[in-house]
Amino acid sequence: MAFSYVSHLYCPKCENTYNVEELNQLCECGSPLLVAYKMNKLKENFKASDLLQRPTDLWRYHELLPVQAKDNVVTLGEGFTPIVGMSKTGKNMDIPNLYMKDEGMIPSGSFKSRGAAVGVSKAKELSVKELAMPTNGNAGAAWSLYSSQADIAATIVMPVDAPEITRKECIAAGASLYLVNGLIGDAGKIVGQAVKDYELFDASTLKEPYRIEGKKTMGLEIAEQFNWEVPDVILYPTGGGVGLIGIYKALQELQELGWVSKDKMPRLVAVQAEGCAPIVKAWEEGKSYAEPWEDAETIAFGINVAKALGDFLILDAIRKTEGCAISVSDDTLLKELKTVASEDGAFVCPEGAAAFAAARKLRENGWIKHDDNVLVLNTGAGIKYPETVGEEAPVLEIGERILRNSAFHYKT
Ligand SMILES: *Cc1c(COP(=O)(O)O)cnc(C)c1O
Ligand SMILES: [Zn+2]
Repeated sequence: MAFSYVSHLYCPKCENTYNVEELNQLCECGSPLLVAYKMNKLKENFKASDLLQRPTDLWRYHELLPVQAKDNVVTLGEGFTPIVGMSKTGKNMDIPNLYMKDEGMIPSGSFKSRGAAVGVSKAKELSVKELAMPTNGNAGAAWSLYSSQADIAATIVMPVDAPEITRKECIAAGASLYLVNGLIGDAGKIVGQAVKDYELFDASTLKEPYRIEGKKTMGLEIAEQFNWEVPDVILYPTGGGVGLIGIYKALQELQELGWVSKDKMPRLVAVQAEGCAPIVKAWEEGKSYAEPWEDAETIAFGINVAKALGDFLILDAIRKTEGCAISVSDDTLLKELKTVASEDGAFVCPEGAAAFAAARKLRENGWIKHDDNVLVLNTGAGIKYPETVGEEAPVLEIGERILRNSAFHYKT
């Protein structure tokens, strides 16, 4: 049995194919490349029951991942994050079957570690020695950390406004970090030039084909954790859209393997912030591509992406699954963040909070039905973003008494 059943790379736009033994970035036509597997062989040799004995990380699906030699796997135990019931928040929204997949539990505190684990492992397999990438913070942190384990030198460029902790993760990992007075698109241009000047591997979102495969494992896990029955709706905070494209790809592959029914795809929802909503605009206008968003700004930094290279893949996935795209304001998502923490005890990231707020909005306008099984992706840990919550607490002198109007009481 092969460790991986990877077959080749293909272009979803012009159908050109490429091999997986060589370093490839974009297709000649400029489109991202996707990974294909030997599905017929997989069908014969790989059964869902094989998973039962395996470790609970994303490498349990190694047949459906692109790394061919087990020795090249770079891992910190990422994946298989819990799906938890959000009963109080759900009741509050009139969605009794509301669930959260909590990606805040992953090493580096965001789901970017999935893309990094698989992307860096494959880069190692293809003998990459130096890579570079633009980032809004979390991806740079994750790729820096995994690159250190793989002995790959990482050059990271992020906006000066990116979450401070992500800079420190890059520096701790020994990456070369640069900040740009601008947005992720500006960081991307600087990386593009550095890639040419110094012949670096370009690990920008979707400019290498393997990050999607890492993020795809969210879709594989969702199906397995729901016992091979998928939820009705999945809400995903969308920046570059890699996770959404990945989840859709995973579910298509599982349908082909016959592990999930071909009759039901979850309705995929791309959630954006009102201050940066190019996908929502394109969706509302019925377009297949998105225009770059001007003056993008949102506190949900991971989804501050003015132009996504995979825009047409995101729009295609939501169209084919009868999903939708929706935006929420920063005020709304910050309010929702507090609701989720104070109702169900989960301190989610602002991107995850946007997805919860979108669920509430879609229930209010009837798009989500009362009985739908609804899954929200919380893509990172709230503790990576301390500025989302203001704190005002009285400071007491040693020995001072707490003064209250009423006696303490416990919740019953
Ligand atoms: C990067 C990021 C996103 C957006 O992910 P894409 O797959 O690029 O759309 C969402 N949330 C967080 C916390 C992120 O870091
Ligand atoms: Zn092409």
